[in-house]
Amino acid sequence: MRAARLAQTLMLRLRPAPGARAALPCSSGGRGRVWAREPVLAHWPCRAPPALRLRRPHTTAAAAAAASTAAPPAPTATPMPPPMTRPGPPMPPLTLYNTATRAKAPFRPRADTPGAVSLYACGVTVYDLSHVGHARVYVAVDTLVRTLAASGLAVTYVRNFTDVDDKIIARAAAEAVEGGAAPDPAGLAQRMITEFHADMAALGCLPPSAEPRATAYVPSMVAMIERILGAGHAYVTEGGDVMFDVPSLPGYGRLSGRDAATDNRAGERVAVDASKRSPFDFVLWKAAKPGEPTWPSPWGDGRPGWHIECSAMARDLLGPVIDIHAGGRDLIHPHHDNEVAQCQAAACECDRAAMPGGVDFVRWWVHAGFVTAAGGDKMSKSLGNFFTIRDASAAYAPAAIRLFLVSTQYRSPIAYSADALEAASGRLYYMYQTLADVEAALAAGGPGLDKGAEWAAAGLAAGTGPGGVAAAAAAAALADDLNTPSAVAALSGPLKAANDLVHTKKGRTAQGRLGDLASIAGGIRCVLGWLGLDPADLPAALEELKARALTRAGMSAADVEAAIAARVAARAAKDWATADAVRLRLEGAGLALLDGPTGTEWRPAVRLEEE
Ligand SMILES: [Zn+2]
Repeated sequence: MRAARLAQTLMLRLRPAPGARAALPCSSGGRGRVWAREPVLAHWPCRAPPALRLRRPHTTAAAAAAASTAAPPAPTATPMPPPMTRPGPPMPPLTLYNTATRAKAPFRPRADTPGAVSLYACGVTVYDLSHVGHARVYVAVDTLVRTLAASGLAVTYVRNFTDVDDKIIARAAAEAVEGGAAPDPAGLAQRMITEFHADMAALGCLPPSAEPRATAYVPSMVAMIERILGAGHAYVTEGGDVMFDVPSLPGYGRLSGRDAATDNRAGERVAVDASKRSPFDFVLWKAAKPGEPTWPSPWGDGRPGWHIECSAMARDLLGPVIDIHAGGRDLIHPHHDNEVAQCQAAACECDRAAMPGGVDFVRWWVHAGFVTAAGGDKMSKSLGNFFTIRDASAAYAPAAIRLFLVSTQYRSPIAYSADALEAASGRLYYMYQTLADVEAALAAGGPGLDKGAEWAAAGLAAGTGPGGVAAAAAAAALADDLNTPSAVAALSGPLKAANDLVHTKKGRTAQGRLGDLASIAGGIRCVLGWLGLDPADLPAALEELKARALTRAGMSAADVEAAIAARVAARAAKDWATADAVRLRLEGAGLALLDGPTGTEWRPAVRLEEE
């Protein structure tokens, strides 16, 4: 049975098509005597593919010759507008860890595109709200984008949406059963894309240059699958699926370090798909099933596999070689190994001339670590231990979630806990409140303000003065493989100095006070900008942090005011025990009281355990 199936599959592959050989000079070669069932597209578009041609593409020797001599593709995505940045010291040359080489190395843009960086990040499958693990990946990529931009590079950043997938189809079907309507996977995907955009905006992630949806690039995916078939690295199964033939490709798995030839994990699997020749083979095209969204292809109606999406969209939008490909580390295998294999198998000669080593379509692979849940497990939907960004931001301001995320270097795991988020919220409030106090002191003016401001500005650019020194230290940290925790820590000194200058008698009379304050305000704003935490509206950001603290305390602003009034009354009556009890109760709820000359105020604080 299996032999018969194999023979049939082989026949499909071996039947030469007229003109097919002429169509292949731009192939990766290697198995040139094995032909696709259908001839490959005459012109491997050294750019976006032409409109999908079905069944019988016309291949001509002239078109093939044109393809083999065509210029390398011109990317169709354009650089994103540079983020608004505050003046600061120059960013030192960036050193970035590369998963492919397992080492840090100085990052340099390609010689043919000086001053420009292309970056592709695998996006989300839009069937549900995104979780904190996703937030971590996209905050890390956003911080990378901001660091590259601060280095003076024009960044073209592409992040896709997987908007056709088993999970989307299943969720839409389940919703249809609940709602008594017809399944609407496209509608579900659109809703989740809108939610994702809201989450990213709340977290301060800049919009990418392009956000391609997989369903809009199916013709490109079909063209790439045709190339892979034509090069002899794929086969069509009896059921009409197209599978990538992993053992046919030398070097498969080099990104993750897995070797398909020696890896015997496949034998441990309970069920290996009978239509696969090797357990490592993966699907490029899935034959249509009833009730599913489908597209036409030379192999019949169906839909693309997940892995081919990114390869095709990255090539269309960024060209055959991209500088940086990013994603969560759970994608290294199989997704990124498979992306590497597909691009290698489909590459034409002009692609290969541009590809590092003639085989790799990515220069730097950047992977963000996991967010772990209680017990150290990876947070994921399939494990059911995840928090959505929406869940987290009901209790914590999104900027506090971002500070929590960047308080760990992007490659290390982060343990998600209420305590850590609370600490980040308290820390962010302290930073923002200090900044507000400094800016208020500067707004109040005084003798020497203009001169001080001038001195501060010169120092910020030169990395001198209290703000300039801190910003230079933060820049050095970010340039060292995005060491964000060190960049955050660089603000500790100036924050403390600022509070002394604003709140102590000695500080208020210090010489050069306004110059120091201007330098500190500039330095803090600059570093917060690099970290994606510079608030556009500082009072609103403080109010948001207070509002979330009240939510966590289960209190309203009026409740807190009433408690403060009760404490004032108790103190007036010298009932110290009652006054202390009120204070302790609020502290236990994460609200600290500050007694000042104009009365008592409250602010969010790390929740203290009651004794
Ligand atoms: Zn991807």
